[in-house]
Amino acid sequence: MPDEVTCTISGVTGPSTSGEIGAVGAAEPGPGGGAGQRATLLVRGGYVITMDPGTGDIPGGDVLVSEGMIAAVGTGMAAPAGTTELDATGMIVAPGLVDTHWHMWNTLLRGMSEGGPGYFRLCRSLGPAFAAEDIYQGTLLGCAEAINSGITTVHDWCHNIRTPAHAEAGLRALAQAGLRARFSYGYPAAHPNDQAMDLAGLRRLHADGAGRGAGGLLTLGMAWRGPGGSDPAMRVPAAIYRQEIDTARELGIPVTVHACGPRAAAGQIGMLADGGLLGPDLQVVHANWATEAEIGQLGAAGCPVTVSPWSEILVGYGLPRTREMLAAGIPVGLSVDTTALTGNADMFAIMKLTQGLANAAAEDEFALTARRTLALATVDGARSLGLAEVTGSLSPGKRADLIVVSAVGPNLGMVTDPAQLLVTAVQPGNVDTVIVDGRVLKRGGVLTTLDAERIGRDAQRALDGVIARPGPATR
Ligand SMILES: [Zn+2]
Repeated sequence: MPDEVTCTISGVTGPSTSGEIGAVGAAEPGPGGGAGQRATLLVRGGYVITMDPGTGDIPGGDVLVSEGMIAAVGTGMAAPAGTTELDATGMIVAPGLVDTHWHMWNTLLRGMSEGGPGYFRLCRSLGPAFAAEDIYQGTLLGCAEAINSGITTVHDWCHNIRTPAHAEAGLRALAQAGLRARFSYGYPAAHPNDQAMDLAGLRRLHADGAGRGAGGLLTLGMAWRGPGGSDPAMRVPAAIYRQEIDTARELGIPVTVHACGPRAAAGQIGMLADGGLLGPDLQVVHANWATEAEIGQLGAAGCPVTVSPWSEILVGYGLPRTREMLAAGIPVGLSVDTTALTGNADMFAIMKLTQGLANAAAEDEFALTARRTLALATVDGARSLGLAEVTGSLSPGKRADLIVVSAVGPNLGMVTDPAQLLVTAVQPGNVDTVIVDGRVLKRGGVLTTLDAERIGRDAQRALDGVIARPGPATR
């Protein structure tokens, strides 16, 4: 492990991907006035888990952040003039956590799925009553929770885009929050299976954002029904689902699709494989019921898979296949999915459950180690989203997405094995500092750019409006 790993700052202006969204991502996050603005930062003296295999851990380590980038990691660094120092003594410094699939719009429906009755019927009944502003409020509340929980990258799987304004509202919330985000443009909740999603809207959004930069915080994807459709009992006609994925591939944007549900819905991955539709640009969600042959097909095609163990067990999908996916060489990420089901967006708890279920299934305490699990929520999650060069590890040259976790608190106390602590002991309340793209979004345990109390009040008001609004026939 070298004493200091550095990267030349000049010439690095952030990632460049064909799906960059410029128009809405250009705004500085938060209210301004210093909080959330970029500065040269030196995070000093923490136990640094870089998750970079070439660097490893650095006890008593420093991380230098400049122009939104990890400029150097090492020990005993001198601070350049004008640097703001953040004392991380006795704390754990780690890459920001990466969520890989989250329906952020329905954060407004937290705690409502059982009365829905059931998550899918809840979304089908209340989803059509969402105005664009409700998408904004739900997404912003989700963003606030993400930042508070140390999640610095989200994959917003927006499957309630009812008008172009609904998409704009979701993007506006993400841009305001300052998170790194993939915004996957989807279909409206309860969309008929015999109708295509709004592909013209997707094209417009892609064209609007193309080539405008914005530092690469927001990228565009497509949330696809695939052959399964929004109603598990129905199938989307091949002419429609092919037109949809062909459009995304023509535009060069990544696609994400659910392959889930009870045993009866199994076989979706085989259908995609038979249709020649699998590929590294197609993220598959859940895949709990994938057969051995289908797991092999995913691995051979380089398809990433996202696992959301809390929603999967709570909705009754069965157990995640994390170890089998990893054994097949599949890029695996972890995800929140929906707080309507899971209640919260605690990536630490998601890691712990992922490890526990894998070890339980293997009847082996060491089947999936804490360190390997932490990789799923950081560097591997980034890789599964195609962001491996951008985030997921504290590697010089990558964007500065990192968290600082305080060991002060009755659930911690000692700093022993930091990776095991992050996976099994740490809770969102222990997250002291969150930095995204060089901007401090949480400091001293407090959000610096978002007013969580106000966002909560606005969310309640938005939900009241959704419930009161005359609903469509599906309700
Ligand atoms: Zn989902």
